[in-house]
Amino acid sequence: MGKIVVLGAGCAGLAAAYELKQKNLDAVVYEKNAEYGGLCRSFMIDGFTFDTFAHVNFSKDPYVISMLEEKTDYFIHKPEAVNYYHGHWVRNPAQNNLVDLPVEERISVIEGFVNREIDRQVHNYDEWLRLQYGDYFTDHFPAAYTKKYWTVEPKELETRWVEGRMYQPTLKEVLRGSMTKETPNVHYTKEIHYPKKGGYGAFLKPFADKVEICLNKKVIYLNSLDKVIRFADGEEVYYDKVISTIPMTELVTYMENVPEEIKKSADDLEYTSGVMISIGLNCDNVSPELWFYIYDEEICPARVYAPNIKSPANVPAGCCALQAEVYFSKRKPLTKSMEEIKEETVRQLINMGIFSSENIQVVDVRMEKYANIMFTPKIYQARERVRIFLENQGIVCAGRFGEWDYLWTGQSIVSGKKAAERVEIGEYFREENV
Ligand SMILES: Cc1cc2nc3c(=O)[nH]c(=O)nc-3n(C[C@H](O)[C@H](O)[C@H](O)COP(=O)(O)OP(=O)(O)OC[C@H]3O[C@@H](n4cnc5c(N)ncnc54)[C@H](O)[C@@H]3O)c2cc1C
Repeated sequence: MGKIVVLGAGCAGLAAAYELKQKNLDAVVYEKNAEYGGLCRSFMIDGFTFDTFAHVNFSKDPYVISMLEEKTDYFIHKPEAVNYYHGHWVRNPAQNNLVDLPVEERISVIEGFVNREIDRQVHNYDEWLRLQYGDYFTDHFPAAYTKKYWTVEPKELETRWVEGRMYQPTLKEVLRGSMTKETPNVHYTKEIHYPKKGGYGAFLKPFADKVEICLNKKVIYLNSLDKVIRFADGEEVYYDKVISTIPMTELVTYMENVPEEIKKSADDLEYTSGVMISIGLNCDNVSPELWFYIYDEEICPARVYAPNIKSPANVPAGCCALQAEVYFSKRKPLTKSMEEIKEETVRQLINMGIFSSENIQVVDVRMEKYANIMFTPKIYQARERVRIFLENQGIVCAGRFGEWDYLWTGQSIVSGKKAAERVEIGEYFREENV
């Protein structure tokens, strides 16, 4: 076999190249950034280690565990989180832990839950939420959060992605949680794992070290007939086989003679982008839990995590840290500069009483263009059309944005492995059937 090229050095691309190497097939990974890791990479500022958004591993897949955890010491945490709602801290998930809310709020939530229309038809996420939780809880919790995290009203999203991600309590659980703090943890995983040193990105090092990665190589052109790829620095490489983990929406813009309907389908694929505000503090831990959600719509971050709770090695001695996440998209564009978002977030966290301005040692703001794919109604047909087009050009798609799927780290790694297996056996041309 000739040269095998992997586009993108996130966990999917790295796993694909590693798997090819296990099969004695050499591949070269090309990555636009100056570091590998994609969304799994960590970064250091003034002795504080932050991840690219809150990341922990909870995959139970033996293959994923062998890749991520066998050669890395890690801490095991319980997935305990809390919710901030108009000055109240409510254990997660809020629907099972109403006891932390004022009495009138509890009554309104329970009333909404009891009176919900249980034989309603579900056509979108909004209707799904109202069916599960009733109107009051929906409006004040998940619908408010959807606008912050997914950047749209729940009625704009469809529902196939929800199963297993949102807890659906019984009336008994809602009532119990409204009367006592003694409620079981119903998170979709019982434990979460995080490297003792080096941040989340350390999980990738054992297999990333074994593959050839070319950094600062942004793909800007791909010709699938001549099998040539050009990078932003002008270099060109010829390939025999190619696996792409870069966003499929971008890849089609690098190619010539892409049919209009494929360009249109790529345009129909929507995603959210995220701003990270990373704050190093010169005091002991300030966070109530490893991570917390913020429902108040006037407070810009949707979620905050505490790097020092994930691992004490993430902060200098006597310090702690927080990272806040603010999301935007073409449906909810940023109206402020990054500096303004940074300042507003810091001010709002201070107003919430989490830390004071004297504690601040360092604040960093940066953003990721591709955070989450959005489950708008057009997603399934549009991504299948684009994927089949790319595969018919001999391009094997893998990873979260390569496949355009809501994949966790472990699932992205498995996606990379499967792509390598398909390249090995040459199974990647598919007929157009959408
Ligand atoms: C907010 C958030 C929280 C998450 N939390 C968790 C969690 O707790 N646990 C968990 O298991 N998973 C979590 N995930 C999911 C996890 O991050 C992804 O599944 C995984 O990182 C995707 O890996 P990937 O390799 O498919 O994509 P990416 O990590 O996006 O890698 C793609 C790579 O391609 C590169 N690239 C893009 N364009 C080009 C180009 N033109 N030329 C060259 N290179 C290019 C990018 O720079 C990037 O390095 C989270 C994701 C987000 C957004």
